[in-house]
Amino acid sequence: MLSGGPGSGKGTQCARIVETFGFKHLSAGDLLRKEVVSASEYGTMILDTIREGRIVPSAVTVKLILREMESSDNHKFLIDGFPRSEENRIAFERITGSEPDFVLFFDCPEEEMVKRVLSRNQGRIDDNIDTIKKRLKVFEALNLPVVDHYEKRGKLHRVGKFTS
Ligand code: UDP
Ligand code: MG
Repeated sequence: MLSGGPGSGKGTQCARIVETFGFKHLSAGDLLRKEVVSASEYGTMILDTIREGRIVPSAVTVKLILREMESSDNHKFLIDGFPRSEENRIAFERITGSEPDFVLFFDCPEEEMVKRVLSRNQGRIDDNIDTIKKRLKVFEALNLPVVDHYEKRGKLHRVGKFTS
């Protein structure tokens, strides 16, 4: 699994990791965005949630990730940008009966993340300063506890700034 704040470079590095190690890349954000344009019953809810920088309910995200896992011939997965909250993590572990072997965390300074998101020009509705501020708050409140959990389990590998 790969974790990090908005614009910390998850997607970019995933492409490289996949190329080198042969995982199947599953980006939770990409799966959710695909669901929005596929006229799914959850589309509107997902779009509203992304626009607000909030987290889509675990039931929906886990279902999308599982669908991809089950339809892949590859059995090594690199899950990018998920779990975003303890609720996400617990739901995923309960439903799959498994835990990640390895969690990579991109510990990137906030001002750098903001700069990167504002300059990436991918046409995303959530890449504006107001939504970024909300995403950073959500990241700190909900995602960092997941990072702490994996750290305690000895699974976390941190890239970037080191704090003690
Ligand atoms: N998102 C979510 N659950 C996930 C992954 C993403 O709800 O498991 C939503 C959330 O609103 C997030 C947005 O999708 O802000 C974009 O996520 P992504 O990981 O693509 O963005 P990044 O953090 O890489 O900028
Ligand atoms: Mg991404």
